Amino acid sequence: MTSHSQYRPTSQARTTGFPKYLDNVRTKKGPFTDPAVELGPPAIEQMEKMKILVIGAGGLGCELLKNLALSGFKDIHVIDMDTIDISNLNRQFLFRKSDVGKSKAEVAARFVEKRVRGVKITPHNSRIQDFPDDFYRSFQIVVSGLDSIEARRWINAKLIDLLDEDNPQSLIPLIDGGTEGFKGQSRVILPTITSCIECQLDMHAPRAAVPLCTLASIPRQPEHCIEWAHIIAWEREKPYPNLDKDDPNHITWLYQRALERGQEFGIGGITYQLTQGVVKNIIPAIASTNAIIAASCCNEALKIATNTASFLGAGEANYMMYSGNDSIYTYTFLHEQKPDCPVCGQQTKELTDVDANWTLREFLEWLGVHPAAQLKNASVRAEGKTLYMRAPKMLEEQTRGNLDLMLGHGLAVLSNGSAGGGDGKKVDADGDHDGAAAVRIAGLGLESGTEIAVTDEAFPGQQFQFILRFK
Ligand SMILES: [Zn+2]
Repeated sequence: MTSHSQYRPTSQARTTGFPKYLDNVRTKKGPFTDPAVELGPPAIEQMEKMKILVIGAGGLGCELLKNLALSGFKDIHVIDMDTIDISNLNRQFLFRKSDVGKSKAEVAARFVEKRVRGVKITPHNSRIQDFPDDFYRSFQIVVSGLDSIEARRWINAKLIDLLDEDNPQSLIPLIDGGTEGFKGQSRVILPTITSCIECQLDMHAPRAAVPLCTLASIPRQPEHCIEWAHIIAWEREKPYPNLDKDDPNHITWLYQRALERGQEFGIGGITYQLTQGVVKNIIPAIASTNAIIAASCCNEALKIATNTASFLGAGEANYMMYSGNDSIYTYTFLHEQKPDCPVCGQQTKELTDVDANWTLREFLEWLGVHPAAQLKNASVRAEGKTLYMRAPKMLEEQTRGNLDLMLGHGLAVLSNGSAGGGDGKKVDADGDHDGAAAVRIAGLGLESGTEIAVTDEAFPGQQFQFILRFK
């Protein structure tokens, strides 16, 4: 490992360079400054009093903390529940080998405090869900550098929930950065004013699989060859009884098959590492993408804090996307708010194509994968009545029976298999099968147009409203 000293800024840069140039930006109007805005020392004082929260001290978080501190924010908090792993060290540059096993938030905070004079960073080695509302209310800006969609949805809904329309101070902008390999985005969410995470949840839907026919007949990319080896060749040849994705012998076998397949179709770029990545569904974390996205997020924070220029979300655009896949490409656009967003919208979202003959269990499974809902552990109420609650245990036991009931009015079924419309193979609610008498599959009696309220363990304290539309 190289010595740290070569990365240390010179003493001149420390004492003069950085504050002077920073103050130029913060006190002098530029071509993008709103003419009505007054810049000057009061703006700096105000910024220095601001409390800013960073969520995540990983790849993006390290960059964010360093950038925000160097941009003149003085009171920064950081939340991260993770500890440092050796595999983080190639890009999470605030950590050293001796830090492995320690809290990311704590090590990152101490490192930046040591290197940037006058900044106070308060680390929290906890889950974001563990803080009371007053904790979040105490910040003027929240910046998230998360890799989990669940955590993003949670903080998004929390900040929207905290908005009190009679109190402008309660509006806390959320600057959200995200990266995936060579791609990334940064965006500013002004609760209920701009589109939120939930408004375009479908953009975060699990990626569609490559059709099997493409894998079997016309592979075009190295990934297709690897998936072919993974899905088709492995099943056909069964070189080992079970595929162990952590066993290098198994990955080597897949890699060699994929390589042969690639040669056959003239497709290059198949490596052992790519094979491992595709099979284990790993998207590589890339330091330069993190640096670019964090810089953009910090830039937005600085603009919001100082008014030196119009920030994303205030004007025509609220979303910046970046791609480094084929050369460097970036653009900003307006992502529109959805009036029926279950979190920030005024209208209740309609769930169309619901089948009245689904059991409640089938409906909940569908809700888990529906691109606009993605609620995997849902509890549900309708018209003031609890249909299913996962917790507490007693309520779960009381409502469990409803899981096997149909959403609509149920069906009359003949036990010889002919049904009064629809699926006759289902066991009726009473378990009564004998004789030729007609039996009924009981239903919950919901109508098309019924409004349901869904809660999910992953989003404590939040309620999603939907209207059911039967097909
Ligand atoms: Zn929304």
